Amino acid sequence: MVFFLMMCCFSLLLFGTPISSECWAGDFKVAVDIGHTRNTPGAISARGVPEYLFNKRIATLLHQKLLHDQRFKGSFMINESGDDLSLPARAALADRQGAVLFVSIHHDSVEPKDLSYWLYQGKLLAHCDKFAGYSIFYSEENGSPLNSLTFAVILGSEMLRNGFCPTLHHAEKFTGGDKDLIDRIRGVYKYNKLVVLRTTEMPAVLFECGVIKNSNEELQLSNSDYQQRMVDALFNAIKIYSTQIINDNMNQKD
Ligand SMILES: [Zn+2]
Repeated sequence: MVFFLMMCCFSLLLFGTPISSECWAGDFKVAVDIGHTRNTPGAISARGVPEYLFNKRIATLLHQKLLHDQRFKGSFMINESGDDLSLPARAALADRQGAVLFVSIHHDSVEPKDLSYWLYQGKLLAHCDKFAGYSIFYSEENGSPLNSLTFAVILGSEMLRNGFCPTLHHAEKFTGGDKDLIDRIRGVYKYNKLVVLRTTEMPAVLFECGVIKNSNEELQLSNSDYQQRMVDALFNAIKIYSTQIINDNMNQKD
């Protein structure tokens, strides 16, 4: 492999042509962040399941898929143990381990005013069936805001291509300035003050897989086929983005 890498780079020096992405095998490290912790698990689903468990499932599937591809074999998960880990510490960890892309996995809730209550297995639980769908957040205060937005748009396109729809329920509060709905079609929001995005140096997005307060969408998000389809879309977006970045880097060196 070392010899192959040397030959690729040597041919670039000789002929000045873009080298194939295979030459970067293992270099494209993705930090897959599991949103929240066991102690502070985030939102609670319509059926009482903590968001952290949903996040861990998708992050684990995505990480496994990345490891099966030579190009992404250096990828790693953040907070696999579920311990209390601050948001800046997550960004610092991704930096130290050389991540070139940071993807934080979350599942969504709604505003308190939109909640209703239902009896599920003898418990009174909050739910909201008005909103469903994924959303994607990036920050202009991130170390690489343009590439963050580029990845967010690619991810939104891949989600649509795979039959997923965005929720626009955040738009009510995202009305410009630091919080804005940037791409209504693809469900991309700017959220400048989101700590995990503004403290990362590498391009970063926070991906809300869906609304677990929605009793119907919760069932979909708990289904293994649905989860795999979502992870496939995430993986394809990473693949497309990495190819674009590598080609851009190569062209700049020409
Ligand atoms: Zn969350």
